[in-house]
Amino acid sequence: MDTLKKNWFSESCELWPGSTFSFEVKEVLHEERSPYQFIQVFDTTSLGKVLVLDGIIQCTQKDEFSYQEMISFLPLCCHPNPEKVLIVGGGDGGVARDVAKHPRVKEIVQVEIDAKVIEVSKKYLPFMAVGFESKKLTLHVGDGFEFMKNHSHEFDVIITDSSDPVGPAVNLFQENYFALMKSALKPNGIVCSQAGTYWDSMNLVKNTLRFCKNQFPVAAYATTSVPTYPCGQIGFVIGSLDSNTDLKNPVLEFTLDEVKNMGLKYYNTDVHKAAFSLPAFVQYEIDS
Ligand code: SAM
Repeated sequence: MDTLKKNWFSESCELWPGSTFSFEVKEVLHEERSPYQFIQVFDTTSLGKVLVLDGIIQCTQKDEFSYQEMISFLPLCCHPNPEKVLIVGGGDGGVARDVAKHPRVKEIVQVEIDAKVIEVSKKYLPFMAVGFESKKLTLHVGDGFEFMKNHSHEFDVIITDSSDPVGPAVNLFQENYFALMKSALKPNGIVCSQAGTYWDSMNLVKNTLRFCKNQFPVAAYATTSVPTYPCGQIGFVIGSLDSNTDLKNPVLEFTLDEVKNMGLKYYNTDVHKAAFSLPAFVQYEIDS
């Protein structure tokens, strides 16, 4: 894979042709082909450590907290009692780290398809992989889609922290995956899935939201800012089985001191409420 030229790495993916994000590499810490994907870890001059899978940036030390905190706390704070949480994907450990911070979460189950991502993250990305040390966590290695088929009425919240819809994650963006998640939830459960950027992947955003709306009485797309993702923006589709859920207004609100004490750097109650306000052109597309 000829992605490393003159110490610069450029992301390449068929999902956003014609433009690229690049960063300067200080050191290639790891390169390996696992049974599922090509794994790279870099130390960089401006972003800290960076995890790349099949040529696509998964997380950088500089801005990973924005993604991990939002995909975790948006659904958790909309559920009155999110005691048992399932994470699908999340092999770097960052989502487990942040889910474990929520005061009402008692038990976390995680299913990640690629044991090598977990191993490499523990070695090179301990600031995220610390999540694997949580006493609340039970970790399985396997396919999240298959795992979901064998679990019913078990989880309060399901968070899908998958890679993009190429490679092993393709099934996690299909409508039947949302149907499987629905049956794995307890009554009034909530799901939250990575759902792409509206700048380059409007069809992905619309399709994922439609699949979610077809299965859940309440569903919406929420946005966050991640400078090292394509276009600097990514969103999540959130669905609730409780038709009274008001996604924009979390049932559990925290003061700034409380989020600081939990170790959060991006999420707060105001950011939660604002995340569901979308630019006009996005709202037109979603409503069309
Ligand atoms: N924050 C990242 C992003 O959106 O770019 C995702 C990070 S996390 C590293 C994504 C993980 O999803 C990877 O470790 C990958 O192995 C895992 N994954 C992909 N397909 C999966 C599947 N079908 N079941 C479980 N895990 C899967």
